Amino acid sequence: MALRLLFFIAGCWCWSLPHLYILLPLPPTTLVDLTHDMSASSITWPSNQPFVVTQEFRGLVEAGYWYEGRSFAQAEHSGTHLDAPAHFHQGSWRVSEIPITRLVGPGVLVDITKKVEESGLDSELTVNDLTTWEEEHGAIPRDSVVIVHTGHGRLYGNRTAYLGYPPGIQVTDDDTENLHFPGVGEKAARWLVEERAIVGLGIDTPSTDRGQSREFLTHRVLGAANVWGVENLARTASLPPRGFQVFAMVHRLQGGSGGPARVLAVVEDRLRAYRVVSSGSILTSSILALLLAFLI
Ligand SMILES: [Zn+2]
Repeated sequence: MALRLLFFIAGCWCWSLPHLYILLPLPPTTLVDLTHDMSASSITWPSNQPFVVTQEFRGLVEAGYWYEGRSFAQAEHSGTHLDAPAHFHQGSWRVSEIPITRLVGPGVLVDITKKVEESGLDSELTVNDLTTWEEEHGAIPRDSVVIVHTGHGRLYGNRTAYLGYPPGIQVTDDDTENLHFPGVGEKAARWLVEERAIVGLGIDTPSTDRGQSREFLTHRVLGAANVWGVENLARTASLPPRGFQVFAMVHRLQGGSGGPARVLAVVEDRLRAYRVVSSGSILTSSILALLLAFLI
């Protein structure tokens, strides 16, 4: 209780003396790893080569020390990976040509799990979903990375379910006709690149276009605008709607149409959010400080 009171008093002071808040204990920044493990059971786009690993050596060498090393091969579009803009647009950036400043950006999480539950696996993110999100959370900032949480990522460990093959039908390993998973609609992609100037778009499914897409219009819209995509994201359920930075660290493959990526979100701690709200009016700040003091 005494600690909460201290937070409250300090919070009120922060309104007029914002630098004082650094005296408060800062909880560690939260890192969220949005990347799945890569292995032979990882998801590869159905028509692509599977992941292959070869153990070159593992054990004690003659000189008496330990050594181990492996070789591996994987499709560019397998596991958690980044689609370069060149993937679906001639002349756009390939992986190693994307400026590093455009692989990092403020994150925005748009949650469409409810829509997917109600409307099914062929659902798409629409412009209406985005404007509704903005009404609640504010404008999507320029140069941001928009991450779409569909809830489908929880099925990643089950290939048949994750690719959305209907139960009871026989499909070949390279079947792309019977894919069913949610994606981003073409108009929503166009709105994000034209009206909000995003740098990247991520999703917890195998593709930014939905499974039943035949023309990959979202990929094409992104590619034409030199905007990348990240697919097969993990742990998107752990992200807040905003207040985090995304780092999409793709393998710097020369000539790559895409490549494996380690994707991280650095989530701002609650006290930083507290400082932001403390810059409002003294009445608002005091009410919010009181609320936060009892939440911490
Ligand atoms: Zn891809």
